[in-house]
Amino acid sequence: MNLGPRRATVIGGGIVGLATALALREASPDLRLTVLEKEPEVGRHQTGHNSGVLHAGVYYKPGSLKARLCAEGRARMEAFCTTHGVPFTRCGKLVVATREAELPRLETLRERALANGLAAQVLDRDALREVEPYAAGLRALRVPESGVVDYGEVARTMKAVLIAQGVAVSVGRALLGVRRMRDALVLETGAGDVESDFVVNCGGLHADRVARRFGLDPGIHIVPFRGEYYHLSPQGAAKVRALIYPVPDPDLPFLGVHLTRGVHGTVEAGPNAVLAFAREGYRRADLSPADLMDAFAFPGFWRMGVRWWRTAAYEWRRSLDPGLFLRDLQRLVPSLTRDDLGPGGSGVRAQAVDRDGRLADDFLFVAGPRSLHVLNAPSPAATASLAIGSEIARRALERMGAPTTG
Ligand SMILES: Cc1cc2nc3c(=O)[nH]c(=O)nc-3n(C[C@H](O)[C@H](O)[C@H](O)COP(=O)(O)OP(=O)(O)OC[C@H]3O[C@@H](n4cnc5c(N)ncnc54)[C@H](O)[C@@H]3O)c2cc1C
Repeated sequence: MNLGPRRATVIGGGIVGLATALALREASPDLRLTVLEKEPEVGRHQTGHNSGVLHAGVYYKPGSLKARLCAEGRARMEAFCTTHGVPFTRCGKLVVATREAELPRLETLRERALANGLAAQVLDRDALREVEPYAAGLRALRVPESGVVDYGEVARTMKAVLIAQGVAVSVGRALLGVRRMRDALVLETGAGDVESDFVVNCGGLHADRVARRFGLDPGIHIVPFRGEYYHLSPQGAAKVRALIYPVPDPDLPFLGVHLTRGVHGTVEAGPNAVLAFAREGYRRADLSPADLMDAFAFPGFWRMGVRWWRTAAYEWRRSLDPGLFLRDLQRLVPSLTRDDLGPGGSGVRAQAVDRDGRLADDFLFVAGPRSLHVLNAPSPAATASLAIGSEIARRALERMGAPTTG
């Protein structure tokens, strides 16, 4: 499709925004394309603060956007890394059932993995020890396709590719306001206005606020869930070959604290999922009155609280008590000790919650006036980013080709 000298802008230089820009550039080389990122460098939020896992697609309901885009996205991410010299490893992972009650859920995961085209295999107690000698469990699902990569490095590489292709990647430039003209949108930033015919909002932790600037009622609120990590000592790290995960709670979009040997060789334990008091609340003490007031004004926040207060309270207790964190890790690797856990980093998940207090599970794209808004892009969105970018670009270009309704 050739749209001539039309102008498009992507808000957010996280991996989803950058991948969207790559897909728009590829599908429509004449588009005048700008990426606006408020931080001084790309990938400073979720993209640069995660587990770095290339998810294979075990968990996702067959037919969901997550399942489809994860499978396609992983293959394309591996190809992108190969082309651009970004290191990744296809190390495989184990999902370990440690209690009888988890065995039916492990079986459901096996069925899902097979339905999603993976070569997953159930291992018994002895076979799982051959893969991970220090792990313990009743049974485990081995998924050979899983891998690890540094998504921050991927994002910086995407930025370099975009710049080489003539895309304006404008860092340190936040979207502050939007004016709607008859034929275009005027995006107000601290460094001058940007006129655009179409905008894609990939604002991550702020995506709902960005959507509101376009006059859209997003119907969801972004709730920040901090994921805290411990860094394993060399002795602790020696007990983990690759990726060791628990069987997740199927009612929650989080995978449970796990052990990850990253692409740089270090091993992280985590992340938990603690309700944060600020959208960019990377530390326990971070508190933003504005973010809290905003959350309190949204009815879905309270409904979520009523439904999940027990889980939320446990997450806070475990966050404050390293002994509790260790106990959960010891279900996977019993010989880990308190001395194996050193301070690690954290990341904050942007989780969309609807008015009924339900946590959105799938990726969520909503059309607005001359715009498209990515309102839920949780894990595995980093893995799936290139496929998500193509999906968004397809929808955006369809809208741009059609008479605009904004
Ligand atoms: C703890 C944790 C572990 C995870 N583990 C994995 C994993 O192992 N594998 C996996 O595939 N996924 C994982 N994820 C999920 C993955 O990191 C995210 O799904 C993905 O990074 C989302 O990318 P994004 O571009 O949507 O968001 P972000 O990376 O958050 O990018 C959004 C960008 O928008 C910018 N922005 C916001 N508002 C404005 C504005 N007004 N103007 C300009 N710019 C703005 C922000 O500064 C930010 O850079 C994990 C996430 C977390 C938090």
